Amino acid sequence: MALLFLLLLLAVLLLGAQSEYIAYNTTAGIVPGKLNVHLVPHSHDDVGWLKTVDQYYVGANNSIRGACVQNVIDSVISSLFEDKNRKFIYVEIAFFQRWWRQQSPSMKIKVKHLVTSGQLEFINGGMCMHDEATAHYIDLIDQTTLGHQFILKEFGQTPRVGWQIDPFGHSAVQAYLLGAELGFDSLFFARIDYQDRAVRLRDKTLEVIWQASKSLASSSQIFTGVFPRHYDPPDGFVYEINDVSPPIQDDILLFDYNVQERVNDFVSAALAQAKVTRTNHIMWLMGTDFRYQYANSWFRQMDKFIHYVNQDGRVNAFYSTPSIYTDAKYAADEQWPLKTDDFFPYADHPNAYWTGYFTSRPAFKGYVRFLSGYYLAARQLEFFKGRSGSGANTDALANALAIVQHHDAVSGTQRQHVAADYALRLSVGYLEAEKLVSSSLAYLSESEPSSGQKCTSTKFEQCPLLNVSYCPPSEAVLSDGKSLVVVIYNPLGWKREEVIRIPVSNERVTVQDSSRRIIEAQLLPLSNARLKLRSYYVRAHLGNTPRELPKYWLAFSVTVPPLGFSSYTVLSAKQTDIDRRSTVSTVYTSKGNTNKTIEVGQGNLKLLYSANEGKLARYLNSRNMVTAVAEQSYSYYTGNDGTDKDPQASGAYVFRPNDTVVIKSEEKVSLTVMRGPILDEVHQQINQWVSQVTRLYKGKEHAEVEFTIGPIPVDDGTGKEITTQLTTAMKTNKTFYTDSNGRDFIKRVRDFRTDWHLQVNQPIAGNYYPINLGIYVQDSSTELSVLVDRAVGGTSLVDGQVELMLHRRLIHDDIRGVGETLNETVCVSDMCEGLTVQGKFYLRIDPLGEGSKWRRTAGQEISAPLILAFAEEEGNDWMNSHVPTFSGIDPSYALPDNVAVITLQELENGKVLLRLAHLYESGEDKDHSVLSNVELRKLFPRKKIIKVTETSLSANQERGEMEKRKLDWKVEGFGGAGIESKVVRGGAVDPAKLVVELAPMEIRTFLIDLDYLHMYGS
Ligand SMILES: [Zn+2]
Repeated sequence: MALLFLLLLLAVLLLGAQSEYIAYNTTAGIVPGKLNVHLVPHSHDDVGWLKTVDQYYVGANNSIRGACVQNVIDSVISSLFEDKNRKFIYVEIAFFQRWWRQQSPSMKIKVKHLVTSGQLEFINGGMCMHDEATAHYIDLIDQTTLGHQFILKEFGQTPRVGWQIDPFGHSAVQAYLLGAELGFDSLFFARIDYQDRAVRLRDKTLEVIWQASKSLASSSQIFTGVFPRHYDPPDGFVYEINDVSPPIQDDILLFDYNVQERVNDFVSAALAQAKVTRTNHIMWLMGTDFRYQYANSWFRQMDKFIHYVNQDGRVNAFYSTPSIYTDAKYAADEQWPLKTDDFFPYADHPNAYWTGYFTSRPAFKGYVRFLSGYYLAARQLEFFKGRSGSGANTDALANALAIVQHHDAVSGTQRQHVAADYALRLSVGYLEAEKLVSSSLAYLSESEPSSGQKCTSTKFEQCPLLNVSYCPPSEAVLSDGKSLVVVIYNPLGWKREEVIRIPVSNERVTVQDSSRRIIEAQLLPLSNARLKLRSYYVRAHLGNTPRELPKYWLAFSVTVPPLGFSSYTVLSAKQTDIDRRSTVSTVYTSKGNTNKTIEVGQGNLKLLYSANEGKLARYLNSRNMVTAVAEQSYSYYTGNDGTDKDPQASGAYVFRPNDTVVIKSEEKVSLTVMRGPILDEVHQQINQWVSQVTRLYKGKEHAEVEFTIGPIPVDDGTGKEITTQLTTAMKTNKTFYTDSNGRDFIKRVRDFRTDWHLQVNQPIAGNYYPINLGIYVQDSSTELSVLVDRAVGGTSLVDGQVELMLHRRLIHDDIRGVGETLNETVCVSDMCEGLTVQGKFYLRIDPLGEGSKWRRTAGQEISAPLILAFAEEEGNDWMNSHVPTFSGIDPSYALPDNVAVITLQELENGKVLLRLAHLYESGEDKDHSVLSNVELRKLFPRKKIIKVTETSLSANQERGEMEKRKLDWKVEGFGGAGIESKVVRGGAVDPAKLVVELAPMEIRTFLIDLDYLHMYGS
């Protein structure tokens, strides 16, 4: 080094001390035999977190954080123009799309050239970098498809790499479904459990072949790289304007010339990383959150490093991308360790398990899930009516739902004003889709006149606040001569029989089905507590208090055809027709002063309550003779306030409980039972701020529990995290099963990890897992399953028991960046109180091996609820003058029980996007874990199928092409191929037969060209 400096000094003296232009040589690529340092310039741009997505984009609200994504893209693009060797990856299409639509035609041509030449590469390519714990797989597919279709349309490109660098734990579904099935060659991320990382650093197992699907086995493999530390550069190589890393100073006329010193730093950081990485390729993440707002500041330094490091020659540095890195790893012909299951839960510290966000903002999580089901239905109706260039559509809802899958959105880890922004976007999208749903139902239910155009005059209303029993059309007092028409749409591919409930103002009502037969209906009195909640939340939501008070829920059973609707009318019963009215439920209140057992349930399922304690005691199914001790309780954890030796508090991300407190009423527990011909309800007030209603429907063999929790009191100075426990005597041997994004079930063992010997520091928080579909436990004879209506955290801390966390309110920040407490309130005229959350879970006990039928079918029905639309009609002639029932598929057809249509959508270009999902894993159920067939002709009656093209999951490339390009990695210890098992997949679709085969857990995506489109009803 000293010698070099002397030579330079000599040169300066001889040349008369001139500082000159230096042409940095940035042309380097991979050099065999050397340690190759892939410099990957990137910016991690959260689609909302401390600021809203639009504030981040335009650089508004910079007092919160100086972040402007427009600056990032502008300056990166001009830096790429300056040197064709420079590269950059861009990830979040929500931002790129905002930028792109404001560019000039000439700029667009130049940027397209950057993409074609590989200087600018889109990776991941969804609208956002989605959360992996609390998002449903259908939402993940939809948001990725939206981004991939943009990239395909504007640039003709298909992303090759999964880039989930920031999400807080990683799911199996991410690896195989949102990875391998998209045609990705690799997947990269940063956050795994700190204990897991330590072992992987030691064993050089940060890079693995992840085989995340048991059913799809070796065909689901993807090369997966976990970064050695985080997604930022090694220390000392961070170059935003205000970052503190020393720049390379190579002007001999200035003080502090440091070229050799910096080259040495570079080489030693590279050699350190090489020690924990297999092959002679390492990746440096050159960027982090919202960096490259002045891109030249980074590129200038990287140009110099590449130039001087390669002159030095000990290691080889160059501009790269994760795709180039992946190809280099593949070419190295190395064998890689196999990884199965997933990377949950995530802890970055002994007391910091990021398992609180599985439940954070439960009302928002519920809203996201409800709208996801609504979006599924709305797209189907948009297709049946025919997508038109004008009028309402589902695009705004699609965009809003895509953005809220971000890892600081549905996760609940954003600031309060950002949560409000997400909710606003969803509600704007909903209102637009609601118009579309109403007009489609009006169109489809209108009878065809003998000639000419249909006039769709019916104005359907829907009731988004039905969950708080607010529904103006059904509450309207029906004057004599008027009737209420209820049209019920079913987005699933099989016929459904379910009970619907609508609020009504008086008991003089009867219900008719579509053939004008009076059907059984039941009235359930609305309690004062319920009406109080209704009036508060209607006021908070709409700004006014409704004047009318409904008196009852009207419940009746409906039958709805697959992908179709049926219609019912509610009539005001004439006083004289007393025997034709709906049945008012009998109401019995136990004050707990008797030793009696109260039996509830009109059908096969009975729940037995002890009147004395006012509690559930026993579960009994008279059909399959399953009987079990079954108890339920509520408790809360007091959130750690971070004032002990370890300042880690419980917060939006982290769950760190202090104590467990069982919730008990101070008064004598009362139990109110309502009984009737349709369902029985058990109402329990657990304490002042927790209540629940348990419903047993006559025709169903599960119990539905609707909980209402809040406002959670925090005036005692402690945050609280509210849980419920379902307890049986089952011997479950520490084992329980939770779903991955609502799809595969993964085996969990308490205080145990498959990949390393777990040091247990947090025996509660460290055993929590994300739940989107459900959780179950089993012993030698039975299995207990609990399904949920939104993402929650859950566990089994005691054998035979299932625990769900339903709500959280915390008063300390958990120091992970959000800088706010998770303290949600709702305000009416500037008076605020803690948010009350209402939601549902469902439970059932089956003989061992029989639970999955219910979990899969009911799970699908919970995530795609029936859509209700209302119209008022003069007289009672609807069924004669309209189409009372409709099915979008062949009337003789229904999908097999093990298959769901998860997408049916007409794209802008007129093609139809169809996704079919097998709902069972291999070996999960003796009848349903089999190859299944779907007849496309019967899915599209009255239409001619011109062409069926099978594609990748995001419909951005033909499946066959994708398979051909698939890299075949070598796996350690399995003869190179991974776990030995036969991969079963459906065969190619024969264009003559048009039958789709689906193997267990397979999702197949098709683009279909149809003729005679828009034929419905015409
Ligand atoms: Zn992030």
